[in-house]
Amino acid sequence: MTKKLLIVGAGTGGLMVANFVARDLGREIARGEIAVTLLGDREEYIYQPGFLYVVFDLMRPAQLRRPIRELLAPGVEFVHDRAVRIDPQRKVVERAGGEELAYDYLVLATGSDLNLAEVPGLQEGGHWFYTLEGALRLRDTLRDFKGGRLVLTVGVPHKCPVAPLEFTMMFEEWARVRGIREQTEIVYTYPLGRAHSIASVAEWVQPELESRGVRVETFFNMESVDPAKRIVHSMEGTDFDYDVLVAIPPHRGDELGATSGLAEAGNWYPTDRGRLNLAGRDDIFALGDTTNLPVSKAGSVAHFQAEVLADNLVGLLSEGSPPAYQYNGRAFCFIETGLERATFITFDYLHPPQVPQPTSAVHWFKQTYNRIHWANLKAVM
Ligand SMILES: Cc1cc2nc3c(=O)[nH]c(=O)nc-3n(C[C@H](O)[C@H](O)[C@H](O)COP(=O)(O)OP(=O)(O)OC[C@H]3O[C@@H](n4cnc5c(N)ncnc54)[C@H](O)[C@@H]3O)c2cc1C
Repeated sequence: MTKKLLIVGAGTGGLMVANFVARDLGREIARGEIAVTLLGDREEYIYQPGFLYVVFDLMRPAQLRRPIRELLAPGVEFVHDRAVRIDPQRKVVERAGGEELAYDYLVLATGSDLNLAEVPGLQEGGHWFYTLEGALRLRDTLRDFKGGRLVLTVGVPHKCPVAPLEFTMMFEEWARVRGIREQTEIVYTYPLGRAHSIASVAEWVQPELESRGVRVETFFNMESVDPAKRIVHSMEGTDFDYDVLVAIPPHRGDELGATSGLAEAGNWYPTDRGRLNLAGRDDIFALGDTTNLPVSKAGSVAHFQAEVLADNLVGLLSEGSPPAYQYNGRAFCFIETGLERATFITFDYLHPPQVPQPTSAVHWFKQTYNRIHWANLKAVM
């Protein structure tokens, strides 16, 4: 009988797991012993880290998009549809189209989504660069920007924890290059009592921002936005009026988990921090943004988890051997510190990050990665 691996979500984590497994088990797939199916609700993959560059006219949208079918390793079957319910007893996933897909092993890689409705007025009064449409709208606003007050707010949880910092430092240099820095006030707000959730990053970045004339306002949890008066209110009672509000909206997981009774608050899947199986189940796994793990929601995390999960799935599918590999919390994030310099952080469950001096070499490394990300997805690197 054919052993069936079903992966839901054709983003960074889902594509990598499917491709790693299919490259390792190509012969078994060709003989019909194993089937790898990827179920995704979009036909196109979008490289989200590129949104930051679209805002400043440094990348074109076309550079960020590829048809998913072009990114698949031989042997992966792609089904374009939405998963609407999981039945763990019958081991099937129901599609929006009504059909069911059976599995022996199920991988959930459904990512995270913006929860704009959580902040009244944000949709009408704010900008964000966490979707391609949002990045393009902000790009158009900035093209006409002649100065004024830009306020950045950060909702929790959210993916790519360093992107708000990158945006702020890139915007500050962009305003200088455009000759409008003196007419521009930048306010960076953060919901905690320091400038970033990671202590070493906060320690490094607060003086860095202040030395560039950026006002840092901590303990600012965005509560609502008044689009008519252009004021953003916080739960703490601090308000800012703004000319441009750039928000990192709070995120939530896809409703599939809640509909199926498998996810907890926020639609995040309770996931084992090492083996990545769902709590109490040995046939369902989760990776990437959709887990409840205490790690950054980042593409690098999805990548490192995909390597571990794929190794374990190869063992399970080909020999029935129990999962032997453990994810150790590894994460890697580039941090753009302006338009031509960058640094990076790397950390895991046991080792917090240090922030090296920014250099132009790291900036160019990130630029290169932005263009070779596709090879990573195809699992050829
Ligand atoms: C502006 C920005 C900058 C970023 N910068 C970086 C960076 O520099 N470095 C970094 O490591 N990360 C960065 N990230 C984060 C990174 O893009 C995400 O963490 C990563 O894509 C998560 O991978 P994933 O597989 O969990 O989810 P995704 O890649 O988001 O994929 C989830 C997929 O599942 C699909 N899906 C959801 N629900 C269903 C369903 N019910 N049925 C079928 N399909 C479904 C979605 O449509 C999507 O295609 C950035 C993100 C943004 C927005």
